[in-house]
Order: sequence, then structure tokens, then C-alpha cells
Amino acid sequence: MLDRFYSETPLAGDLATLAGAEAHHLAGVLRAAPGDELVVFDGRGGEYLARVAGVRRDRVELLLVERRDIEREAVRSLTLAVALPKGERQRWLVEKVVELGVARLVPLITQRGVAQPTAEALARLRRAVIEASKQCGRNRLMEIAEPRRLGEFAAPGEVGWIAHPSAERRVRELVGSLSPAQTVAVAIGPEGGFAAEEFEQARAVGAIPVGLGERILRVETAALAVAAVILS
Ligand code: SAH
Repeated sequence: MLDRFYSETPLAGDLATLAGAEAHHLAGVLRAAPGDELVVFDGRGGEYLARVAGVRRDRVELLLVERRDIEREAVRSLTLAVALPKGERQRWLVEKVVELGVARLVPLITQRGVAQPTAEALARLRRAVIEASKQCGRNRLMEIAEPRRLGEFAAPGEVGWIAHPSAERRVRELVGSLSPAQTVAVAIGPEGGFAAEEFEQARAVGAIPVGLGERILRVETAALAVAAVILS
């Protein structure tokens, strides 16, 4: 498989320029030379077979040889609203949910949350989305949405579920009741769990509690389990 590169600028026409980290990786680390072939995508769907036309220190010029309308999206649009863990665990979670095909990640603001969804943190997560998409072949970037609270974690039209260890119904059972086109948003709480009033807020906007089994899962395990069950 050819190496994949991400273009921040939407791709169209015959030529493209890679700059920043992507150009550094291609020119500085991989020592690309004119004529080398690669795949480039802009995260908006589809990809291009491209050939290196020119290499400068801070940018690489590409000839776009052929557009391919390849999508590697999941069967259903899934939003995960997650009270994110800190640091490396947060980055790991993002990488894995991109691989599993999650459409959108909403950093969930909760009383017992441990990570601050600052603009800087969100920018880091967006970079992790790009890296994971390059690796796993996704041509559409998982959206990192603006942080939201439990009263508004599902967008209009999405079915809202809230993962809770004491929920009566399992995710697996409820998936069977969804129509093929139904989009879903699932809220996952922090290690300290949801506060009772937060849980009630989610219930008040129609969220259905869903369970993942008898054991207490860590935030990232719960996120991956939800994604795997709903998207497999
Ligand atoms: N002590 C907390 C556990 C939090 S685990 C509590 O009792 O709620 C972190 C989050 O992962 C939870 O808020 C929940 O959203 C999800 N989670 C963990 N284990 C789960 C399970 N068995 N079923 C459903 N959700 C679970």
C-alpha cells in the first residue's frame, strides 16, 4: 500500500501542495524524490493517487494523477460524547475510535471530568484524528465537535443513549431495534461516574440508559465497546 498524506487544503484540479508536518514527513523523513507515488486525501471524502513533482524544504508539490471515490466509513453514523480521560489515554481513545469508524467525538463536560477541553487540547485531538486516518485508510475525518453538556449531547435527529453500569438494557439489544439509517449519540461518563443530576438531565432530554455488562469499564474501554457493538 502506498503511503497516505493529508492535505489541509481541499483537493481539486491537477496540482496540490503539502505543507507543515506532512511536507516535513515526506521531504525530511521519507526523503521523497520527484516521481515517487503516494496517496493524498483532504478528509472530505475520496482520495487521489499522486506523484511528487517537486520537493522544497518546507513544502512538496504534487501532481494529482487520479481521483478515487473510495470511502471507508462505517455502516452507521455514530457520535460518542465522552468525558475524556487525560493525556496519553485521551490520544489513544481518539486513535481507536477513528479506526472503528466513529463519525463524531463530542468532548463531554461533566462535574467529575478530569480533562479540560481547551482549544489547544481540541487541536491536539484533531491532529490525532489525521494521524489515525492516514494509518487506517479513512478518507473522511472524524469530527471533533465543540464540548457539550449532558442536556445537549445528542444533535437533533440523533437517538441519545447514556452508558450506565446499572442500565437494564444492553447496547447489543437496543442496536437491533434501530432502523438502518438511524444515527445515534452515546454519552460516556468520567471515571467518577455521572452525578445523579447529570444523569437526570440526560434522561430529561430523552436519553435511554444502556449497559455494557457486569463489570465497570474504564472510559476508553466503554467507548471502544460501544463503537464496536454499534458499528460492527
Ligand atoms: N463509578 C462509576 C464508573 C465510571 S466508569 C459509576 O458507577 O458510574 C466510566 C464510564 O464508563 C461510566 O460513566 C459509563 O458511562 C461507562 N461504563 C463503564 N462501565 C459500564 C458498564 N458496565 N455499562 C455501561 N456503561 C459503563
